[in-house]
Amino acid sequence: MNTAALYHRTESEYAYLYDQDTVHLRLRTGKDVANVYVMYGDPYEVDGDKWLDEAAIMTKVAETKEHYYFQYALTMPRRRLKYAFKVVDNEGEAIFFGDRGVYPLEAKYYNVPNFYFSLPYFHVIDMAQAPEWVKKTVWYQIFPERFANGDPSNDPANVLAWDSEEPSRENFFGGDLQGVIDHLDDLEALGINGLYFCPIFKAYSNHKYDTIDYFEIDPQFGSKETFRKLVQEAHRRGMKIMLDAVLNHSGDTAPQWLDVIKHGADSVYKDWYYIHSFPVSYDATDDNEVAENLNYDTFAFTPHMPKWNTANPKVVEHLLSIATYWIREFDIDAWRLDVANEVDHHFWRQFYNACYSLKDDFYILGEVWHNAQPWLQGGEFNGTMNYAYCENIMQYFKEHTIDEEQLASVLYSQLMLYRDQVNRMNLNMLDSHDTARLLYQVDGDKNLACKLLAFMFLQPGTPCIYYGTEYGMTGGPDPSNRACMVWDSSKQDGQMYQFVKQLIALRHQYANLLSDGQIKFEYDKNNKMFKIIRFVDDIKIIGLFLGERQLIDVNIGIDEFIKDIDTNDILLSGKGFIIHTSYQLSTHHKI
Ligand code: CA
Repeated sequence: MNTAALYHRTESEYAYLYDQDTVHLRLRTGKDVANVYVMYGDPYEVDGDKWLDEAAIMTKVAETKEHYYFQYALTMPRRRLKYAFKVVDNEGEAIFFGDRGVYPLEAKYYNVPNFYFSLPYFHVIDMAQAPEWVKKTVWYQIFPERFANGDPSNDPANVLAWDSEEPSRENFFGGDLQGVIDHLDDLEALGINGLYFCPIFKAYSNHKYDTIDYFEIDPQFGSKETFRKLVQEAHRRGMKIMLDAVLNHSGDTAPQWLDVIKHGADSVYKDWYYIHSFPVSYDATDDNEVAENLNYDTFAFTPHMPKWNTANPKVVEHLLSIATYWIREFDIDAWRLDVANEVDHHFWRQFYNACYSLKDDFYILGEVWHNAQPWLQGGEFNGTMNYAYCENIMQYFKEHTIDEEQLASVLYSQLMLYRDQVNRMNLNMLDSHDTARLLYQVDGDKNLACKLLAFMFLQPGTPCIYYGTEYGMTGGPDPSNRACMVWDSSKQDGQMYQFVKQLIALRHQYANLLSDGQIKFEYDKNNKMFKIIRFVDDIKIIGLFLGERQLIDVNIGIDEFIKDIDTNDILLSGKGFIIHTSYQLSTHHKI
C-alpha cells in the first residue's frame, strides 16, 4: 500500500462540523486503496476491538489523477469523537491509520486510545457557517456606472449619452441606483434573487475602487435615501443585497491620506498606512496606475491606493464601523471583500464577528483567485469568488488545454480543498468586472457560452451572472467589459435571454438538489464526453456535455449517450449538452 499518499488532519476540511449535528470525516489515499473504514466512538469509552468490529465504510467521493478521497458523515450525541481509519488496499492488505501514523492492523496499536485522532468537542460557534439563503441565490453583478441611468439630475458634468461611446477608464455615462430600482422588476422576471454591486461609495473614478468616503453613497449614484429604497424594494422582491467593501486600501484622496501628505510624520494618521519614510512620495510613470520608488505600501503599484494598516486597532475600529454601519442602517445582507487575500486574518476575524453580531445569516465573500483555504476555516469568510474553479471550465471547453480526465481531477481537487458547506457558499462566475466578458472569451460563440453557463449552473456554489450576459453583451478586458447595459431591445439577444432565464429557473426549481446535493463527475475520453451528476439519494440531475462536439440533438437522437433518455425527462438542452433527470447510468459503455 502506498501509505505515503494517506493524508488526514483534524479540524480542517478533513474533519469538520458540517451542520449543528453532523461531523464529516475525509481521508485522502493513493489509488491502490479499495476500501476505507472509520473506527470511532466516544473518547471516554475507547474500545478498539469493538470499534474495529463496528467500523463504518466510507464513501469514495472524489478521484483525482493521484488520489482517492473517502468521506463519512456521522453524528455523536455527546458531541465528541475519537476516530481512526482502517485502510484496505486492492490486495487485501489492511493498515491502521491514526493520530500517530500508520501501523499494522493489530490490537496492540488500535487498542491504544492515544493512537486515535480526536475531536474533543464539537463547537458550533467554530463551524464554518453556510446561510441557507445563500445556497439558493442566483447573483447578478452590477457595475453601477454602466447599468442604467435612472436620474439625469445626478449625472456627472462630463456625462456621455448612454452607450454613445466605448467604455474607457475615464468616461461616465450616468448610471445610478435609481436605474437599478427602475429595473428590479426586469431582474425579478429573469429570476435573480441576489444583487452584487461593485463599489457605490464616494470616489472619483467610474469604478469607485478608490474610495474617498466609505460612509457616503457616491452622489453620482444617488443618495442614502435612494439606496435605502433600493434595499427595501429588493427585499420586497426576495432579493438580497451584497456590497463591495474595499478595505485593503483607501483612495489617495481619502481624508486620512490627505492628512498624511500634508503633515507627514506629524500626521495623526501616520500609522494608519504602511509608510516607510516621510514625506510620502513616488516616481510617476506614463501609466497612471503604476508608480516606481513608492515609499509606502499600495495595492499593486498603484500610487493612488495606499494600503491600510489593518494591524492598527484604530484602523480596525474605523473599518469595522463602516462594515457595521451599512448593515445596521441599511440592512444589507452581504459584503464582498475586494483584494481580501492581502488583508490580515486577525482583521478578518474581527470583521466576521462584527457582521455576525448584527445578522446571524450574513454572507461574507472574499475575493481570492487562488486556493482560499486559509480564510475558509470558519470565522472569516463564508465563501470565495471561485475563479480557480471556473477557469478550469474554460480550459476544457474553450482552450482545450485539459482533457476530460484532467477536468474531473482538477474540479475534484478544488472541491476537496474546502468543507462541503463552504463549497455551497462559493460564488461561481465565468466573467466579472475584472475579466473579459464570457462571450468575448469564447470568440462570440453563443452556443458555447450557453454550454459553459449550463455547466457552471450545475456546480455546487452559487452562480453569478455579470450584467448584460443575458442579452448577449460582449467586451474584452477592463475597460471594455464595463460597457453600458444594452437597453435598446433591438440590440438585445432574445434567444440568449430566454436561455439564461430557463437556466435560472432550473436552478430555482431544483434548488435543494443543486445547492445541497452531492456531486459526481464521469467522463468518456474517447467520445470526449463529460457528465455532472448532482444527487440526493436516488434523485438525480445529470448534465451531459460534449467537450468539442455540438452533436447532441434531442430530436434526432443521434448520440448514443442520449439514446436511453426519455425525452420527458429533459430539463434543458442546447448545442453540445443536455440536462435531464432520472437517467440511469447505462452499463453498455464504459464511462
Ligand atoms: Ca444618473
